[in-house]
Amino acid sequence: MSNNKLQKSKSLDGAPLKSDENVDGKLDASEKKLIEMAVFASSRAYAPYSKFKVGAALELADGETILGCNVENASYGLTNCAERTAIFSAIAQGKTHFVKMAIFVDIDDFVSPCGACRQVLFEFAKDMKIIMVNRKKNTKVTSVGELLPMAFSESELNSTDRV
Ligand SMILES: [Zn+2]
Repeated sequence: MSNNKLQKSKSLDGAPLKSDENVDGKLDASEKKLIEMAVFASSRAYAPYSKFKVGAALELADGETILGCNVENASYGLTNCAERTAIFSAIAQGKTHFVKMAIFVDIDDFVSPCGACRQVLFEFAKDMKIIMVNRKKNTKVTSVGELLPMAFSESELNSTDRV
């Protein structure tokens, strides 16, 4: 899937992507399990305000899976997304090698990571596979690199003559 295709979906950060794409047949058994874990993770979401429950399942290089869910707050701006919850939880557990992430929301459309999450994902896993999953368990597969072209990274920090 090209980045152009994503743009044709007219996605804004965090906005649903409309798609009838389904690559389920191309997913292996471990990816299907990862999807089920993302579905489970969404049940743990703390979303009393939006009711928009998101689950993320992050597969690590060692085969372990770390779950994430969105965690809202009465002060809305403090809300943390499922994707970042999973990444931060993994980092806190000393895990830094990420392989893929499944993201589930119980709606008909696909939901792609918001801009903030894309930047955080890029920090740790520039080429990580992202599997977006909708209510019907249809999937749309992309990668962090496709989601965040021309990303800001440590190379920009190292490209100046700051002292
Ligand atoms: Zn996000």
